[in-house]
Amino acid sequence: MSKKFEGRTALVTGAASGIGRAVSEDLAREGASVVVVDLDREGLEATAAAITAAGAVATPFVADVADPEMVRAAVELAESEYGRLDLAFNNAGITGPSGLLADIDVAGYQRTINVNLNAVFYGMYYEIPAMLRAGGGSIVNTSSILGLVGTPTAVPYVTAKHGVTGMTKAAAVGYAEKGIRINSIHPGYIDTPLIKHIAGVQRSALVSLHPQGRLGTDQEVSRAVIWLLSDEASFANGTQLVVDGGYTAR
Ligand code: NAP
Repeated sequence: MSKKFEGRTALVTGAASGIGRAVSEDLAREGASVVVVDLDREGLEATAAAITAAGAVATPFVADVADPEMVRAAVELAESEYGRLDLAFNNAGITGPSGLLADIDVAGYQRTINVNLNAVFYGMYYEIPAMLRAGGGSIVNTSSILGLVGTPTAVPYVTAKHGVTGMTKAAAVGYAEKGIRINSIHPGYIDTPLIKHIAGVQRSALVSLHPQGRLGTDQEVSRAVIWLLSDEASFANGTQLVVDGGYTAR
């Protein structure tokens, strides 16, 4: 059976861990060559090693996605290494500071916006021209349920993720006639290292927010991302795909 992404090149940020790692491995399993990007060198090398051990192709690139020059270099690496860029998953993220709006520190707010929102802009800013050179492409940006609804103690995160939702829609409309589809993914709470950084919240409290009575897995999110990236989602554009065990349905 032919693979979904044979002959295509993908770029994934936040690829050292959690959802980004799962998507990188699934892309590679489906035939893509994957440039995996993250701040965490050790985790990134583990992702690349797992992909090559499975007989697929990956190139690790250590970068801070909040630095536009590093994002530009990652896209250039994809083109120089593999000759083209077809797919991108702009996914790196942090939880940011917890607390009511007036209780959080300004530096924490700014860093969260830089990593969770501005980095998505930098990603698309360099990926889209590369995809136009390749004749088209597909981009998925990681938002969250908190890109659709609010919570009082995660203002920077909620703000950044709502920004990703809107930026995705605007970009999708702008490039729809040019052969690039752009969508966002909105996970509920997923059992990855990220949730350990949510200050003052017990795991059981997070579980209770989901009608299905559990957290999601990175694999469950990855399957949705892979669908959006693939030609099977050929008429999905500017959409918000929610994978949240019923969180936002209440
Ligand atoms: P994760 O396991 O912590 O993975 C995120 C990865 O991104 C980590 O390897 C992290 O490195 C990396 N990263 C952080 N800042 C970076 C930067 N500036 N430049 C490059 N890499 C950076 O988290 P995850 O749960 O898979 O999260 C992936 C995405 O899903 C995030 O955008 C998150 O907001 C979103 N999301 C997660 C959940 C959830 O419940 N887990 C729910 C909704 C949305 P370090 O470990 O070194 O920081």
